[in-house]
Amino acid sequence: MQGLVFDIRRYSVHDGPGIRTTVFLKGCPLRCLWCHNPESWLLQPETTVRKNRIGNDTFETTEVVGKYYTPTELVSIVEKDYLFFDESNGGVTFSGGEPLMQPEFLEQSLALLHKKGIHTAVDTCGLASAERYKAIAPHTNLFLFDLKHMDSATHKRLTGCDNELILSNLRLLNTLGADIIIRYPFIPTANDSKENLNAMVSFLSALKGISEVDVLPYHKIAAHKYQKMGIGNWDNAPSEPTKTEIEQVVSFLKNSGYKVKVGG
Ligand code: SF4
Repeated sequence: MQGLVFDIRRYSVHDGPGIRTTVFLKGCPLRCLWCHNPESWLLQPETTVRKNRIGNDTFETTEVVGKYYTPTELVSIVEKDYLFFDESNGGVTFSGGEPLMQPEFLEQSLALLHKKGIHTAVDTCGLASAERYKAIAPHTNLFLFDLKHMDSATHKRLTGCDNELILSNLRLLNTLGADIIIRYPFIPTANDSKENLNAMVSFLSALKGISEVDVLPYHKIAAHKYQKMGIGNWDNAPSEPTKTEIEQVVSFLKNSGYKVKVGG
């Protein structure tokens, strides 16, 4: 059995505790308007085209995005950083895309890492069956769980899917006693209304043991990826939040009783 991976990034300090290696799996059920990883969407290898220029000459180069690994192959690559994990209380994070789009590969990779005593985290948009979450929970030390919008109809408009199953999965993981950090992608005008922030805090206050919310401010650094892949119209992208706007959101969440990190 193999999994399709589009990137492996070492020395990450934004995807969970300590120094981590983040494995990005291809395939995502959502299409968030602000997505930074459009190369993750399809669960198949893709060819992207880059336009290069040297002096007056322009030429194109192609690149295949997505490579297959067995769980054993993947683990043999990421465990090379074991010393960094050990020294920093770090580990391996699975992100995407949505890692639960490849449930067997994810579960087996997590189980292998666990056997080796390596801390595991799964960064999830929340949209997969409850059975898939139950299957990986015993091998997952930490869930980084996205809350994009609390209103289901707005969630659907922004991401292509409503949020009912997502909220239900968050409740489920909480009931199972999973360690969870909430990730709030802060997208000006899309999900930063007082109403949405109040609804998020109200929802979280009904859950036990969730103490941290990470704020992920929207930025436009992914524009070149859309050009490379020939999709979308980045001209309509939201504006980036200002420093003051970020501070206001952080302060609101801190005053609501949460530990807050910016950028995860
Ligand atoms: S869930 Fe993440 S990877 Fe999927 S579309 Fe949204 S931002 Fe992109």
